[in-house]
Amino acid sequence: MYCKYCGKEIGDSRFCTYCGKPQYDTAAQPNYCGGRSYPPPPGYVQDAPNAGFAVLSFFFPLVGLVLYLVWRDTLPLRAHSCGKGALISVIVSAALSILLIIFYVLLFVLIFSLGPSPTAALSVLGII
Ligand SMILES: [Zn+2]
Repeated sequence: MYCKYCGKEIGDSRFCTYCGKPQYDTAAQPNYCGGRSYPPPPGYVQDAPNAGFAVLSFFFPLVGLVLYLVWRDTLPLRAHSCGKGALISVIVSAALSILLIIFYVLLFVLIFSLGPSPTAALSVLGII
């Protein structure tokens, strides 16, 4: 057998011993890695986690829920991003609500522990 590239006699070797080039048909080999990448067919939408939609769903959890339900079957990864954003939003607002309630309870405890006259304490704080 002769090398396809340099034309030297190489026997039955799969690689040329002179120029090092492979002698099998590389185009017929399966595409393992690093080879040609084929463009997606028209109309195909790449499904991937999307940070933009996650942020959108965080600020508008209802929109995130709708997008999650719409994309759940066709674009599961993107739908997952929307669902996660909406879920984090709900958890954060619940946590903030609890912190706000604790803050108000502590404020009232503070006000009514200042003395026998609650109005005096309020005027000290500048509320009345
Ligand atoms: Zn060669």
